[in-house]
Amino acid sequence: MSEKIGLSDVDVNGKNVLTRVDFNVPMDGKRIVDDTRIQAALPTILQLIDSGAKIVLVTHLGRPKGFDVKLSTFPLAEQLSHLLGQRVKHAVDCIGVEVQAIVSELLAGDVLLLENVRFYKEETENDPVFARELASLADIYVNDAFGTAHRAHASTEGVTHYFDQNVAGSLMEQEIRYLSRVVNDPDRPFIAIIGGAKVSDKITVIENLINQVDGLIIGGGMAYTFFKSKGMEIGKSIVEPDMLDFAQDLLNKAEAQGLTIHLPVDNVVGKEFAPDTESQIVKSNQIPEDWEGFDIGPETVEYFGKVVSSAQTVFWNGPVGVYEFDQFAIGTIELIKRIAASNATSIIGGGDCVAAVHKAGVSNQITHVSTGGGASLELIEGRILPGIVALTDK
Ligand code: AMP
Repeated sequence: MSEKIGLSDVDVNGKNVLTRVDFNVPMDGKRIVDDTRIQAALPTILQLIDSGAKIVLVTHLGRPKGFDVKLSTFPLAEQLSHLLGQRVKHAVDCIGVEVQAIVSELLAGDVLLLENVRFYKEETENDPVFARELASLADIYVNDAFGTAHRAHASTEGVTHYFDQNVAGSLMEQEIRYLSRVVNDPDRPFIAIIGGAKVSDKITVIENLINQVDGLIIGGGMAYTFFKSKGMEIGKSIVEPDMLDFAQDLLNKAEAQGLTIHLPVDNVVGKEFAPDTESQIVKSNQIPEDWEGFDIGPETVEYFGKVVSSAQTVFWNGPVGVYEFDQFAIGTIELIKRIAASNATSIIGGGDCVAAVHKAGVSNQITHVSTGGGASLELIEGRILPGIVALTDK
């Protein structure tokens, strides 16, 4: 992928800058449950303020079907005001004459947050007329919303056709830098850890990684499909029968390549899928008939930990257990701690893993925690993301 222009490549002084951010935060009514995504955009917003831009922020929030006051961006503007220590204006729409009037009164360093762009179905339809209206609010476009870069929507792709300069914000730059390094030029040994419930969700990423890594760790629910494909007894553990051939082919392919696929050697198994269910630790080849594998066991933590400690680059996506239940979160949390304690460049790819990193309390010891779940996986899969490709080349 060619390098994209960043904030230091453009002069934004006195200019209106339409800035796509990803403020799609979890909400409980009007209360923000976790403002990590807002905080992640602060470096870009602060840099734009310092450079004298007039900042017009646009984001989506949730999945509204038309105008929905419960998904208004107003509480986000309030939270951003609090974080910046400066009043952030809020517009009750994201296009139209009223918004244009507010934008025309902005002074250098002012910040305005538009109303939820997904109140218009034209956003996800990438409607060109809607995109042009949005674009008409500004002179320059900045995209800092990595989490939605895999979607060709009006505010992520459509608008770029109406600007001369489409700029990567600093979060976007950082995401591209770390994730494309994993794809193109990782320091070796390069170890990837793939977890999560299902093999089927991660086929492409696994297929792509197998040609690049020096070792692949597989944990979580998907490990049981691999066990089963080897003819092992897995009790009631989650399995995808139509993925058994894929799993077996992958194991054969890896063996032929001389690549080790590391699977759990022991497991925490439970009686049923419940937080307080009875549990025990068993070896991988001794899973009892009526029990279900919910986490990696302590021996596996040591084993995977050793593999991680030998790495120079670690990429990790997907929890290695049902981390939502405390008694089955231990494997995931201990493994994160091993990654944090290693000397490797560590890149953690989005979604569930980010929550687990926070739970482990080690986010400042991880090199890069990606803010985009789907987007980071697609980048690792080697796909071209429409929101990135649309930005101006250096
Ligand atoms: P993903 O979104 O693919 O990364 O999968 C995350 C989900 O996988 C989490 O909700 C975990 O609870 C689930 N998961 C991890 N390990 C297991 C397991 N052994 N059995 C069932 N679900 C699991």
